[in-house]
Amino acid sequence: MDEHDPAAPLLPERLARAITLAGPMPVSQFMGAANAHYYATRDPLGAGGDFTTSPEISQMFGELVGLWCADLWDRAGRPEAAWVELGPGRGTLAADAVRAMAQAGLMPPVHLVETSPVLRTAQAGRLPDAVWHDSVDDLPDDRPLLVVANEFFDALPIRQLVRRPGPTPGRGTWHERLVAAQDLLFLPIAGAAVPDSVIPEPLRDAPAGSVIETSPACVGVMRRLADRIARQGGAILAIDYGYEGPAVGDTLQAVRDHAYANPWEEPGSRDLTAHVDFATLAAAAQGQGCAAWGTVGQGEWLRALGLDARAAALARTSPDRAAELEAARTRLADEMGTLFRVLAVTAPGWPAPAGFPQGAGA
Ligand code: SAH
Repeated sequence: MDEHDPAAPLLPERLARAITLAGPMPVSQFMGAANAHYYATRDPLGAGGDFTTSPEISQMFGELVGLWCADLWDRAGRPEAAWVELGPGRGTLAADAVRAMAQAGLMPPVHLVETSPVLRTAQAGRLPDAVWHDSVDDLPDDRPLLVVANEFFDALPIRQLVRRPGPTPGRGTWHERLVAAQDLLFLPIAGAAVPDSVIPEPLRDAPAGSVIETSPACVGVMRRLADRIARQGGAILAIDYGYEGPAVGDTLQAVRDHAYANPWEEPGSRDLTAHVDFATLAAAAQGQGCAAWGTVGQGEWLRALGLDARAAALARTSPDRAAELEAARTRLADEMGTLFRVLAVTAPGWPAPAGFPQGAGA
């Protein structure tokens, strides 16, 4: 349906109608439709939007990401590579990274994977020479890829499985979580039972009410990218809030106007995210023959790359910005420093990436 046709029903009406006709829908379908609408219809970033991300806090973030890419590329023998960003938002990280990479001698073609027309327009203002893609499948296939994804995987749809009590304690069953609708009120319900064999073994006997999340969408993107990297060379840098699963926990959350909101209300009007299971992403990459590094906390990673020195150098050249730089440094390294985690994936034969303790492997 045309998102821009004023006569088209709004997303909540469309989803409610689909549920009335076909029955409750999986959480992944609800989240996918909600986020596709949300990102297609607005620029959600920054003080006037719904949330702020690391590259929007300070230029230092994108610059250090760019220097990380340039260092790896240099030690890999300076091949003809392409630089790729998944879900580039306003293009801020890309612009800062491209500037830093150029200073280090790396001037690669820029490829952006972005589905939102509104954000593509914002990105084009900063990166007029970039090439856009709807999916990772049509990225260049003839050269190494240096791929960056900040707060991208958390926006991809998740499945949820919920544990229901059984007739006797300890004999519960796992169910796919579905979204039902009553008029325009959406609510999660337990759908059909799934066999215990699909539940990771350590979690099978979790107490009633427990929720487990999986993201076939995240795993699919990582597997396809890692397959490319394994054949073409290159690396993937994924930064997001997340954990090393499998684990029990309902992490689906909605953010609007810089505050938490109800994820089941008014789909398409708020940003839906879930914490990223980095252990599963790392395993997907290793399954394609790549090496996985980390995760390490964002704070530790940024410090290892020289965040403190960069902040001090910028403050020396612009003393009037010293307080602002110190606030940004604290926010990136301390406040967001442990919940946000960094995973790197490298092609076989590529060197160890900077910022990860030597010999680490997820
Ligand atoms: N990386 C940016 C923006 C994060 S918001 C930053 O750190 O500021 C998530 C980004 O992913 C947006 O650009 C959004 O439009 C994009 N996105 C969400 N789902 C997507 C999908 N399925 N395919 C491609 N891009 C997607």
